[in-house]
Amino acid sequence: MLRRTKIVATLGPASTSPERLDALIRAGLDVARLNFSHGSAEQHQENARRVRDTAAAQGRFVALLADLQGPKLRIARFTEHKVMLSKGETFILDASMDKEAGDTQRVGIDYEQLIADVSVGDTLVLDDGRIELKVTEVDQRSVTTRVLIGGPLSDNKGLNKRGGGLSAPALTDKDREDIKTAAALGADYVAVSFVRTAEDMHTARALLREAGSQARLVAKIERAELADDDAALDAVIEASDAVMVARGDLAVEIGDAALVGVQKHIIARARALNRVVITATQMMESMIQNPMPTRAEVSDVANAVFDYTDAVMLSAETAVGDYPVEAVEAMVRICMGAEQHPSTHTSQHRIHEHMEHVDEAIALSAMYAANHLDNVTAIICLTETGATPLMMSRIKSSLPIFAFSPRHTTQHRVALFRGVQTVPFDAADHPNELVNDRAVEELLRRGAVKPGELVILTKGDFSNAQGGTNSLKIITVEG
Ligand code: PGA
Ligand code: MN
Repeated sequence: MLRRTKIVATLGPASTSPERLDALIRAGLDVARLNFSHGSAEQHQENARRVRDTAAAQGRFVALLADLQGPKLRIARFTEHKVMLSKGETFILDASMDKEAGDTQRVGIDYEQLIADVSVGDTLVLDDGRIELKVTEVDQRSVTTRVLIGGPLSDNKGLNKRGGGLSAPALTDKDREDIKTAAALGADYVAVSFVRTAEDMHTARALLREAGSQARLVAKIERAELADDDAALDAVIEASDAVMVARGDLAVEIGDAALVGVQKHIIARARALNRVVITATQMMESMIQNPMPTRAEVSDVANAVFDYTDAVMLSAETAVGDYPVEAVEAMVRICMGAEQHPSTHTSQHRIHEHMEHVDEAIALSAMYAANHLDNVTAIICLTETGATPLMMSRIKSSLPIFAFSPRHTTQHRVALFRGVQTVPFDAADHPNELVNDRAVEELLRRGAVKPGELVILTKGDFSNAQGGTNSLKIITVEG
């Protein structure tokens, strides 16, 4: 049985040694996330090279996801590097003070615009939700607050506003530089943090194309503004190739009570709009220190699989955790277990909608035929850009979709699509009348199909042409 749900793992000190990377890819890593919030351009370049080399040595296809830092707001630093905030005390965020001189009464801020963005009565959330402050006074250069939830607070911790509404633009100067690095290292996907509007995605795409990259774009959904505005969310999804349910910041902005419902909504909308979706953050959090996930984590991953996420993501678990390989292995196990559930095999995707394009009609017809015709065991999709397997994989199924493509970019791109495996294959290498047989023989050789089974194959009249898929054939595998 092939695993369908894909695994994204963040690289960091715990995962970039050649041996570790080799073990992670062997364990099932599909997409390596380069987190541009940490590390230098040179480090990311080097890690990208290692991922490519290690995957190639194993005959695997691992995509590279460059994740831009975005305007993550942070407090400045403390003289003692760490303070204790107590409930009920006054604490001031002060744009005019020395950035290194914070204490239990006040600390500097790097984002002066904060003062214009907050008003009395707002709740500010620090350190991923560990500290909460209620705004009691705002003046020219500072925000005075009362501590609602206290605890330890250390240098440079992140800052969000409950309910959203911070106006920092999605692409910072650093992000614009990092887009060039992502293009240079051959990223397959680039993720934009704290996206507010479709426009943010258009800007990122233009910058990426300018830098010579055809990378696909991931919108990280982590602002409250998108969680409670369906039209704005759809517009961002449509401006992107994939979305990430970025639960770390999202939960802080919308509150944990709303999170799971919003997660389900984002996954459903992304899939309905033919986009890919990654569910991210704290999925296996306890595995930073433990070799086993908790039951709650098992349930969290399985729930995302039932909702039909394309991928589940590991962050600190693989970047800095003590058990990175075990975390990937646990995800593999849980995804495969959840995929056995019958609810993941039946689809209503676009069943009541009209189709605009021939390739979409072929893609959906192929999947409905595959799901409803006995004895079909695989779908072969001869594809140039991966667009057809993407549409196919929006339909729930237990059958593997094999994306046959001659292009490296496509072979890597489809690594993120649920249920899609790539097979390097150039139709131009075969006489036209033999292409179908050769493709089926390739699956037979791989043990993916057996004689007597049925395979559904889709392709266009002209090989190596984009968007030309116009035929569907049902073929009996010959012995
Ligand atoms: P981050 O994004 O890890 O870059 O903050 C993911 C999230 O917020 O969940
Ligand atoms: Mn985030």
